[in-house]
Amino acid sequence: MTQANLQQSTPTAVARAPRAATRASPGNLYEAKVLSVHHWTDRLFSFTTTRDAGFRFHSGQFTMIGLDVDGRPLLRAYSMASSPYVDTLEFLSIKVPDGALTSRLQHVQCGDTVLVGRKPSGTLLVENLLPGRVLYLLATGTGLAPFMSIVRDPEVYSLFEKIVLVHGCRRVAELAYRQLIDEELPRDPWIGGAVIDRLLYYPTVTREPFVQQGRIPGLLESGELSRRLGLAPIDRGGDRFMLCGSPAMLADTRAVLEKFGCAEGNMSRPGQYVIERAFVDK
Ligand SMILES: Cc1cc2nc3c(=O)[nH]c(=O)nc-3n(C[C@H](O)[C@H](O)[C@H](O)COP(=O)(O)OP(=O)(O)OC[C@H]3O[C@@H](n4cnc5c(N)ncnc54)[C@H](O)[C@@H]3O)c2cc1C
Repeated sequence: MTQANLQQSTPTAVARAPRAATRASPGNLYEAKVLSVHHWTDRLFSFTTTRDAGFRFHSGQFTMIGLDVDGRPLLRAYSMASSPYVDTLEFLSIKVPDGALTSRLQHVQCGDTVLVGRKPSGTLLVENLLPGRVLYLLATGTGLAPFMSIVRDPEVYSLFEKIVLVHGCRRVAELAYRQLIDEELPRDPWIGGAVIDRLLYYPTVTREPFVQQGRIPGLLESGELSRRLGLAPIDRGGDRFMLCGSPAMLADTRAVLEKFGCAEGNMSRPGQYVIERAFVDK
């Protein structure tokens, strides 16, 4: 069930540049060229870059990216939002007004250089989960980024009967990629069939009227989420969860999952859920 009938988000600016070569940079970074920039709101934008042929990652991982500022790299952790199988990279970014990186990064344009770390990392990997039937991807804000990579990864569809993508935001305009998820992914010649059969998308808004409302922990605990999607109630035997969002969302959702008897997974011991912070509150 996708939400094709919901109000669509309107791009505020889209620009595309011709494919440019990726330049090598010494050490653990390489220089990627910006290919397109899309401003969703005054607090949120996304951009694509060239991808170094040697840069491999798994869907759900993050790397360090940034800019050269006064001759030194200024880097922050960013999840790849693109599929690991395409030859460009995509990032979804907050704009923090006084943020050291994003006060600058929000002004990137096609052809600009962005530094990309060569060592991807992260816990949002299916290997860290026990085998299951339904994979819940629970995101707030820019926590959607790693899940945009996962829902564009055909391998994930072969591991679960259903994939549920829940994106919680304060405002409707912050529901980035809604049109892509609702309309473009189901038509994708490569994974469209799997998306139509298996992907359930549940955008939810907390601070203005919308067809679906409520915070993720409450939707899970009350059973509203599974009920509205036509799924069985949460069951630690077959349901698996990936969480990426604000510190408050992660803490509250973890508490709900623990009540359901779920345990956090990691590389050495897979579990029912895994967590990645969408950012660190300083
Ligand atoms: C594992 C990991 C993955 C990350 N992936 C992404 C990503 O894909 N996209 C992204 O935009 N950011 C992501 N971040 C956050 C990112 O690393 C930076 O914090 C962000 O780019 C802001 O950088 P800054 O230097 O402008 O401000 P900072 O000094 O880093 O942050 C200033 C303050 O802004 C707030 N803030 C920072 N990032 C966010 C955010 N994403 N959403 C809401 N508030 C925020 C926090 O309160 C923070 O204390 C990730 C962080 C981690 C730890």
